[in-house]
Amino acid sequence: MIDLRPWLPEVPDAVIARLVAGRRVLIASHENPDADTLGAALGVAAIVERGGGRVQLLCADPVPALYGFLPGMDRFQTDPDPSFEPDLLVVCDCGALDRLGDLRVRHADLFERLPHVIVDHHASNTGGGPADWIDPQAAATCEMVTLLAAKVGLPLGAAGGALAAPLMAGIVMDTATFAHPNATPRTLAVSAALVEAGAPLAEISRRLYRSKPDAQLRLFGRVLDRLQTAAGGHIVYSELRAADHVETATQAAHSEGIIDLLSQSESAAIVILFKEVDHGTTRVSVRTRDGGIDATTLTGAFGGGGHARAAGATVGAPLAEAERRVLAEAERLLGSSRAGA
Ligand code: 5GP
Ligand code: MN
Repeated sequence: MIDLRPWLPEVPDAVIARLVAGRRVLIASHENPDADTLGAALGVAAIVERGGGRVQLLCADPVPALYGFLPGMDRFQTDPDPSFEPDLLVVCDCGALDRLGDLRVRHADLFERLPHVIVDHHASNTGGGPADWIDPQAAATCEMVTLLAAKVGLPLGAAGGALAAPLMAGIVMDTATFAHPNATPRTLAVSAALVEAGAPLAEISRRLYRSKPDAQLRLFGRVLDRLQTAAGGHIVYSELRAADHVETATQAAHSEGIIDLLSQSESAAIVILFKEVDHGTTRVSVRTRDGGIDATTLTGAFGGGGHARAAGATVGAPLAEAERRVLAEAERLLGSSRAGA
């Protein structure tokens, strides 16, 4: 039996108290959702329901088909039911509240009025109040939610694996199956408990990282072929044009994973993927080498955030202009880090 008790003193009692007292709870995930924000929301739902409360799971965007094999993904809706009358809002895996996207814009009154609990692991999150839990040491928000579940005594094997599988998926997603330096002894202990509870680790890892529609592989091919370098190879970047999605018959969610391939560059200290959303909007994904530049320093200059090694931002400019601006800042950061080294 895997024993998570040594880790449980780190779980704040104030968060547990608010979660189990909630009667009608809105649980929100970030826009363009990934396995971590979705799995964490489902885990929180199980905790609230165990305490006798009811929940509605919210996300501004539909759940990508990739996650359809995980139990519970059909529970997400884009807006709360008008009759629900919530008494608590839980925000999962959002480094900043604007990560909630249109959901927060459409229901601004609710999001301002309701007491909330934030559960998040982004270093750039500065929103921590007394009933929030922000732990940048956690590899995934799902790692934290697994500990919350353990602390309230919810059996991780509950519902025939319906709890453990999505929590495991969030950890697999955010660690790239334990390949990133964010995986700690606690991450592995939590994961061992989830596997013991029935989470299909190998299947989750294959589906999230080693299995793709052929159209998506063609999209990857285009972007990889456009690889460019700056700063003598220390910056590696590429772009995904809106037309690529049309010509390969793919959706925005299919760009997930391209940055990880670009990050295999031996020369790069900073890897940047520019995604054209529309004529005036460009999404930027950044990855940096272990021990190198903090990725949030670069994305923070453009209003974004994330983690030290993986961060993102939305730049309100066309693709070419966004590239000029972000590359100039990346070169400046590299230059000053060398000057200081
Ligand atoms: P990705 O490059 O995979 O989209 O994002 C990498 C990391 O940065 C993720 O953990 C994500 O939550 C965070 N991130 C991405 N975009 C944004 C953004 O626009 N604002 C903030 N605060 N964080 C972001
Ligand atoms: Mn996460």
